[in-house]
Amino acid sequence: MMTETPPFTIEQFYKFVSEKKLMAAECVECGTMHLPPRPLCNGCFSSHMKWVELKSGGKLLTYTVIHIAPKRFESLAPYPVGIVELEDGLKLPGIIRDIEHEKISVGMRLEVGFETVESSGWPVWPRYFFKAP
Ligand SMILES: [Zn+2]
Repeated sequence: MMTETPPFTIEQFYKFVSEKKLMAAECVECGTMHLPPRPLCNGCFSSHMKWVELKSGGKLLTYTVIHIAPKRFESLAPYPVGIVELEDGLKLPGIIRDIEHEKISVGMRLEVGFETVESSGWPVWPRYFFKAP
């Protein structure tokens, strides 16, 4: 039995990511999915939400290669970032890993992978990324 529903916040989204789960908030009233999660529905303004686990596959809608990266990603540059449309219809931005840049193409199938986080402290910002299925 669930004791308490976790809050519908971006922090909670990343807590799920640290558990290797991709979760979105679904409005119980009208079924609208929210990613990033939010406590109030865009569609009907209901606050009756539940967490649902998303399928981790989707197709690449668009991407770009980042050459000048923010500090914490500097060691990765140049790296591709893309927006993937998940099977549930939600769009998720993220870094694409382990695929040669020339082989990346719009429309290709990608899958969400999860990074293992070394730190045990909170807050940490565990990362998900996209990879070839
Ligand atoms: Zn709604």
